[in-house]
Amino acid sequence: MSIEYRNDHLFVEDLSCQDLAKKYGTPLYVYSRAHLERQWQAIDQALAAIDHKICYAVKANSNLAVLSVLVKLGSYFDVVSIGEIERVLRAGGRADRIVFSGVGKTTAELNAALKLGIHCFNVESAAELERLAAIAATLGLIAPVSVRVNPDVDAKTHPYISTGLKDNKFGIIWDEIESVYQQAAQHESLKIVGIDCHIGSQLTEVSPFNDAIDKLLEVIGRLSKQGISFQHIDLGGGFGVTYRDEPTFDLQGYADAVVEKIGPLGLSVMVEPGRYIAANAGLMLVEVQYLKHSEHKNFCIVDGSMSELIRPALYSAWQRIDAVELSSDTPSDVYDVVGPVCESSDFLGKDRTLAVKQGDILAVQSSGAYGFGMASNYNTRCRPAELLIDGDKVHVARRRESLDDVLALEAPL
Ligand SMILES: *Cc1c(COP(=O)(O)O)cnc(C)c1O
Repeated sequence: MSIEYRNDHLFVEDLSCQDLAKKYGTPLYVYSRAHLERQWQAIDQALAAIDHKICYAVKANSNLAVLSVLVKLGSYFDVVSIGEIERVLRAGGRADRIVFSGVGKTTAELNAALKLGIHCFNVESAAELERLAAIAATLGLIAPVSVRVNPDVDAKTHPYISTGLKDNKFGIIWDEIESVYQQAAQHESLKIVGIDCHIGSQLTEVSPFNDAIDKLLEVIGRLSKQGISFQHIDLGGGFGVTYRDEPTFDLQGYADAVVEKIGPLGLSVMVEPGRYIAANAGLMLVEVQYLKHSEHKNFCIVDGSMSELIRPALYSAWQRIDAVELSSDTPSDVYDVVGPVCESSDFLGKDRTLAVKQGDILAVQSSGAYGFGMASNYNTRCRPAELLIDGDKVHVARRRESLDDVLALEAPL
């Protein structure tokens, strides 16, 4: 493992969290290169029996250093904005290894992505298809398209991260898929290359994926009778990780089902994992500022907050919180671990048994995905530094923001 205790000291690869916090300050994001690589390679190996492309979902952790680790593995990338495309390019990635998802692509974004020659546009509405066709025609280019199907399957995950039910804004509803593909086929400036879906995030079971694949295969069958064929099928991301006691996602079971169902069609498979690659590759280090005891509650007030890590506040997400130095001298108690932000939702964990004292460093585990990327400057807080650890080497992947950085774009009257 890349993040583990050695003699009661928490390490990320060969470096102790206590030393990193001391040297680089807190709050601090720390990522393990080895873990990122291992997760990506596990997916690659699981799907070895079929032609496949892993399109890392950039929004999970879009730091340039993280992206460049995946570029070196030969990854493709799933992006949702022109900003994310720029990140992939600056990390050394190629435009023709980018797929562009998202319900609200603007004219400027479509225009720029077309000129760059990206691999595929994952179109999410009939209106977007028309806009893309018109822009491509104007530019004299042909846009490679896939239509995102909303397969109306229950991903059995948190409602905020479930995306494949018919009431969700994502994708094109079942009844309209065929007409949208026929519409696409009529445009000379579009080339149909694929079909895609993404049913949600943090799925712990394989069965919703199987349901989604079956639905996509049904559409493919119907469309092929109408002369519409595909090069690839993109199954989206959403593979679950273990934050607490969730069962380990059965990656091989998933991959076996993919190979069995899709192999006979001779289609190339694409997947768009984000969380699976990044979540457990990172942690956030915070320092205990104060311990506050009241009749009913004890609070452990730390220097990290919902501004730096919003998942607990936003989705009631549970992430393990550990002291980076285990000590039997400190008495343990049950605490709500909270930050300094002026919101009652500003907590990182509730009812945690911790043996801590003022000045101790805590690790909020599993913070590598949807952590820093969702951080804000709320309460005029400077966003943390990010480190990428490779063995005993530290790469400062992003330096800590200064107040000058935060205020640079504003102008007093
Ligand atoms: C967010 C997203 C993903 C990645 O989801 P994970 O749960 O992080 O794997 C993949 N595809 C699309 C279209 C997404 O919006």
